[in-house]
Amino acid sequence: MSYFRDNIEALEGYTPGFQPKQSDIIKLNTNENPFPPSPEVMKVLGEFSAEKLRRYPDPVGDDFRRAAAKVHGVKPENILCCNGGDDLLTMAFRAFCDENRPVAYPVPTYSLYPVLAKLQNCRTIEIPFDDEFNLPVKLTKTDAALTIVCNPNAPSGSFVSVGELASLADELSGVLLIDEAYVDFAEDNCTPLIKDFDNIIILRSLSKGYGLAGLRFGYAMAPEGLVAGLLKIKDSYNVDAVAIALATAAIKDRAYFNKTTDQVKQARDVLTDRLRDMKFTVPTSYANFVLAENRDCPAKEIYEELVQRNIYVRYFNLPGLENKLRITVGTSEQNEKLVSALEEILRDCIK
Ligand SMILES: *Cc1c(COP(=O)(O)O)cnc(C)c1O
Repeated sequence: MSYFRDNIEALEGYTPGFQPKQSDIIKLNTNENPFPPSPEVMKVLGEFSAEKLRRYPDPVGDDFRRAAAKVHGVKPENILCCNGGDDLLTMAFRAFCDENRPVAYPVPTYSLYPVLAKLQNCRTIEIPFDDEFNLPVKLTKTDAALTIVCNPNAPSGSFVSVGELASLADELSGVLLIDEAYVDFAEDNCTPLIKDFDNIIILRSLSKGYGLAGLRFGYAMAPEGLVAGLLKIKDSYNVDAVAIALATAAIKDRAYFNKTTDQVKQARDVLTDRLRDMKFTVPTSYANFVLAENRDCPAKEIYEELVQRNIYVRYFNLPGLENKLRITVGTSEQNEKLVSALEEILRDCIK
């Protein structure tokens, strides 16, 4: 006998990437930004008033909605503030999915989706990507109430064109949630689509592009009708006063955002070349990580050897990802240390 509902009892739960306590390590396992948040953010944090902490926050975070709307060329009513992008995913599953309303998504992708589906007791329709991570055609043929496409996809870093996602939204009878947690490192995004479709929700996060994973702030961009519906679902005060103020400062500082994301993109492209030089297969990434596979040396062995050297990357051991490592793009210096370690490891591994 369990006190829990059957689906909760059976649930494994999401396994977050390891967060080591030591500071003398190179941490390339959870896709954090190697750069700190904007100095404007730290200024707002330093000057934060006790009075603002005494009072409840703005339930919808209008300061942030206005700032984000200006950046994206949409209306504040198109923005929904969330306690991290994951909060939006939870809301979407609660809003659209149940026993009779399945969710569909291409795999491999973000491993949180199936966990949220099980919490909601909803069926998952998982459609495999092909080897090139093209959008599976079958995705249009499901009866899903919610279809999720992570774009750029994790952990492949691959990117599906905006036109293809527009066609998909057009064919679906349910909602299309485009998880753009990594779009800050890509060359294009789906924001314009929310003006043309009534069934698209775009997820954004400040965890990756803005170096604010510790803050817990994300947002949705969607047509007003969908935002209004999701507002009914969210916790009354889902984003706190500190988060609203800091997120607003972060999104307003476009110069810092552009500079740091450009640097990560450049470092990513250098890292990709270096890995390919070492005979790793690396799909072109549009995110702040790369997925790397070496046919001659098992990923598990490389992973363990890297840990010995205080370098942490992500090894999933999941279907479709058996021999692959997901490596977050660090600073150029960190990436060089990783490359040197890999050269050493491969020398011993391939004898
Ligand atoms: C990081 C991430 C999110 C959202 O993360 P938050 O830290 O909750 O904002 C959503 N989807 C994917 C694929 C991610 O990697």
